[in-house]
Amino acid sequence: MDATEFMPARKSLKTLREAAAGCRGCHLYAPATQTVFGEGLKRARLMMVGEMPGDREDRAGKVFVGPAGRELDKALERVGIARADVYITNVVKHFKFEERGKRRIHQKPKKGEVDACMPWLRAELDVVRPRALVLLGATAAQALLGPGFRLTASRGRPIESELASFSPRTCESRPSTSRAPRPSRWRARCRRRAAACAPRRAR
Ligand code: SF4
Repeated sequence: MDATEFMPARKSLKTLREAAAGCRGCHLYAPATQTVFGEGLKRARLMMVGEMPGDREDRAGKVFVGPAGRELDKALERVGIARADVYITNVVKHFKFEERGKRRIHQKPKKGEVDACMPWLRAELDVVRPRALVLLGATAAQALLGPGFRLTASRGRPIESELASFSPRTCESRPSTSRAPRPSRWRARCRRRAAACAPRRAR
């Protein structure tokens, strides 16, 4: 069982969001407060994909509004991208947790739970068709690039993928040698790359 049977016939961000609210494609919906679907610009050039909502996101019903969201906001600000101009989502749309007293402790989703939820992410990719994807962590990277992906070996590196059209051949990762550019130059380079992926605002 997975999310497939809950897919709407006509796919738009609105119909997907509404349908996902009633998803019972795996057991994770039961203890969670609500589905936390992706948010952002419909035709965003940049899509960011995290693992799953946390405690704050589960209560608010919104993506990346907790501590990780604050870090994401800072990172976007540093490269000159407005959050409103990107599309942000998670691989798994319900919060998985273990209760310890009054606290709800995040639990990493299992492969079967990720697989069950993937139809939603694939549908988001189909609708938004981003030019570039930023995969925030190993769960997102392995869900989209395969289980063989190793975050430790590829962290921060641009990767060619049929999931997005932006070519990393025009991009470089931050050098780690003594020949690395000064931070100010590196930030400027990041801004140029960000500009290449910068979203077109709806007119
Ligand atoms: S985690 Fe995904 S597949 Fe499972 S119930 Fe929630 S939306 Fe459906």
